[in-house]
Amino acid sequence: MTEADPILRPSGRRAVLIDGKAAAAQIDAAVRAGALELAAALGRPPCLAVVLAGEDPASQVYVRNKVRRTERAAMTSVEHRLPADISQDALMALIDRLNADEGVDGILVQLPLPAGLDASAVVQAIDPAKDVDGLTAASAGALVLGAPGLRPCTPSGCVYLARRALGDLTGRHVVVIGRSILVGKPAALLFLEADCTVTLAHSRTRDLPALARQADILVAAAGRPGMVKADWIKPGAAVIDVGINRVEGPDRTSRLTGDVDFEPALDAAGFITPAPGGVGPMTIAMLLVNTLRAAARRAGLPLPSAVADLGAD
Ligand code: NAP
Repeated sequence: MTEADPILRPSGRRAVLIDGKAAAAQIDAAVRAGALELAAALGRPPCLAVVLAGEDPASQVYVRNKVRRTERAAMTSVEHRLPADISQDALMALIDRLNADEGVDGILVQLPLPAGLDASAVVQAIDPAKDVDGLTAASAGALVLGAPGLRPCTPSGCVYLARRALGDLTGRHVVVIGRSILVGKPAALLFLEADCTVTLAHSRTRDLPALARQADILVAAAGRPGMVKADWIKPGAAVIDVGINRVEGPDRTSRLTGDVDFEPALDAAGFITPAPGGVGPMTIAMLLVNTLRAAARRAGLPLPSAVADLGAD
């Protein structure tokens, strides 16, 4: 990186925070405008079906937030709350019904499913045209092929925040730490789609700190609290912290923290997402974008300009 590099942090400055809450609020507002426009054409608002099985407290909170944000964005949300002991067959039958329901544009199955259920079979049964989480084999294949399709939400949020901080990402070296199906792997492919040069790291990567120090954009998605130290960060780089980890403090109260050792990182990075408050809010924003996109595509209509103009692809 040279002095002329726009992501080089001016000396003596702390990193600029990439505000995921503000970005998500802007996207939510654009989706709302787009949903109202689309509703006029469809004769009904775009509709997201949310499937929640069991009583997992974290899942209940996630679903509540998703439903609230969907409704605030002028879309309909239909919740299907199921007992933890629901059978695989009953769950698959529900997915079949939602696939066939013309009034449903997006289907979201809240994971993890209760023990004993085959989550993969349930997710893979979702019609790819309604796969707003972007997790079916068809959606993953479209991502690899660079074909149109619904992209996974959290990784899309990472790319959106990197663009918000840096503008055009062409030629940037991105190091993604974590290779999960949900986050790391699709994040690497999405940054590749944005013409970045991508390195995908994982638990078997050798000398990860040295590799991370080469990144213009460092994406931490390992689920290891505070793993990324300040001296892993190239001065001035953009750091996207995907981690959401619950840790216990000295007073035995628990709090959420990211994968980056945040305070010291502020003196190394040029831009950094806080965690929580960075990538987290973006996941639901991208879910709303995908629901709108699914509704438009299914009706053969273009994505409303309020959202298309955001460049949230
Ligand atoms: P995951 O399925 O557990 O995958 C973790 C990945 O990190 C694996 O590929 C693993 O490598 C790698 N890894 C683990 N320890 C490592 C180490 N010490 N060095 C290098 N790589 C290491 O987790 P995930 O579902 O991808 O989630 C990752 C984090 O993001 C979690 O904190 C999760 O809560 C958070 N998350 C946040 C959002 C959001 O909305 N912000 C959404 C989803 C997930 P191997 O493959 O070699 O085991």
